[in-house]
Amino acid sequence: MIDVNHRHYALPKQPTVVVCIDGCEPEYIAQAVAHGRMPWLARVLAEGTALIADCVIPSFTNPNNLSIVTGAPPSVHGICGNYLFDVATGTEVMMNDPKWLRAPTILATLADAGSTLAIVTAKDKLRKLLGHKMSGICFSAEKADEATMAENGIDDVLRRVGMSLPSVYSAELSEFVFAAGVALMRSACRPDVMYLSTTDYVQHKHAPGTLGADAFYSMMDNYLGQLDAMGCVIALTADHGMNAKTRMDGQPEVIYLQDLLDGWLGAAHARVILPITDPYVVHHGALGSFATVYLPREVDQAAVVKRLASQRGIEAVLTRAEATERLELPADRIGDIVVLSERSSVIGTAAARHDLTALDAPLRSHGGLSEQRVPLILNRRIEGLDTQRRWRNFDAFDLALNHAQ
Ligand code: ZN
Ligand code: ZN
Repeated sequence: MIDVNHRHYALPKQPTVVVCIDGCEPEYIAQAVAHGRMPWLARVLAEGTALIADCVIPSFTNPNNLSIVTGAPPSVHGICGNYLFDVATGTEVMMNDPKWLRAPTILATLADAGSTLAIVTAKDKLRKLLGHKMSGICFSAEKADEATMAENGIDDVLRRVGMSLPSVYSAELSEFVFAAGVALMRSACRPDVMYLSTTDYVQHKHAPGTLGADAFYSMMDNYLGQLDAMGCVIALTADHGMNAKTRMDGQPEVIYLQDLLDGWLGAAHARVILPITDPYVVHHGALGSFATVYLPREVDQAAVVKRLASQRGIEAVLTRAEATERLELPADRIGDIVVLSERSSVIGTAAARHDLTALDAPLRSHGGLSEQRVPLILNRRIEGLDTQRRWRNFDAFDLALNHAQ
């Protein structure tokens, strides 16, 4: 038994795999199953455990991956976006560095307790955070060719997996994660616990039930079936959902929040931060349904909150205190207000700062409350679970280690 962030976890008796499917709106699964493309999962849904859980807000990749591996919300682990306004230095910085992480992970604690661990991520940006202080195997598909024993606990990854290095913008980047997981489970270094985390390249481009989406979920079903056949306990969840964010003409439905606030307050007063911003913006143009805003002291905050809340396309506007309480966010890492847009809208900064010409498909994105529902599925039936309670994606390790073995 280990204790991590005030929750207990049993050590695994069977090889255990927790999978975070990036951007897995539950409908992707429903459509692929209905189209007969996920025979393994169809059986698991009938015979195992299938729940709908809430992810953490902002419904972005890093906060949720860190919640899953810490079993805790961002108020505990500190990672509340890809991007942060560092008040101390007055600069906008990436939150990829483990120095921002405030809590131990279940993975590192299991390794310390003697379990063998492996983490495979699609993009390299998550690798250092997820593998922080963990002894074991930890590498990304993106930089699989650069993996070394010293840095990643494994080398010669391309040969072991039997795939060439995938492009960072491809479905193969996620396929590589599964292929690596299966290769590791088959090999002599078979881990006791494995965490696999994909990328949402496919989900940003393809709606549920389309050819591109179904092909991706069919690929995944095949690899998951192989892990199941090897006797693994498998928990599947997602970091967030995904929705179309377009107007009727197919163009992105964007609320340019910096432009709006500059118009109300005068230029260079409010500072709008979009924590979705990262170096890989081609598929979403840095547009999501969550923003946080820093306001100068002299501005009437309550008046701004009220006026923003009445804007079309805005779902909720919260003060820092409300966001800390209701969304479990770290108070010192968010602005004075948090703004969430509705299901079909996204929030931008200034129109001039977003290059929408790079978008090669109608915008699909996430970040808001409308992308909070995610699957939480185990390939074992767990008797007596309360299906009416609020499940979270960060209950995945609890269910896998404490209830499914
Ligand atoms: Zn994601
Ligand atoms: Zn995304």
